[in-house]
Amino acid sequence: MNDGFVEKMRDADVVHDSRLLADFVQIFCDEHHGTSARSLVTTDGASLGVYGRKTPTLCAECEEHLAYAENRRAFCPKDPKPFCAHCDTHCYREEERIWQREMMRFSGPKSWRKGHAVDGIKHVLSARKWRREMERRSAEAGAD
Ligand code: SF4
Ligand SMILES: [Zn+2]
Repeated sequence: MNDGFVEKMRDADVVHDSRLLADFVQIFCDEHHGTSARSLVTTDGASLGVYGRKTPTLCAECEEHLAYAENRRAFCPKDPKPFCAHCDTHCYREEERIWQREMMRFSGPKSWRKGHAVDGIKHVLSARKWRREMERRSAEAGAD
């Protein structure tokens, strides 16, 4: 783990987003890999105690995705940061981007029941704004 990551993980927004992401991945893993071997994650974020008592229990595959996303979030250049799904400069590797989109689509609607109503509302509003922006851009491209 590099010093930069440790420093970034002191930021309250980074911690919040990492915890939210971990909860989403937990929902996804519970429903898809509940019968697989799973254990408490030992990602860099978990090693720093970011998740506290809510450290996720995941299969190896989901833990890898979480570890990847933790690092992307920690070093995100956007401020304010949009939801990754609505980011115009998506920094994820293609296969990670596809995985995260699938995971968010699955876990997002269920996260309301897991105490993330405010984040769920923000996500819906952000999705609307993002769709409008995409429509505006495609209208502009069509007018060229
Ligand atoms: S996808 Fe965009 S918002 Fe998400 S971490 Fe990368 S740069 Fe930041
Ligand atoms: Zn899993």
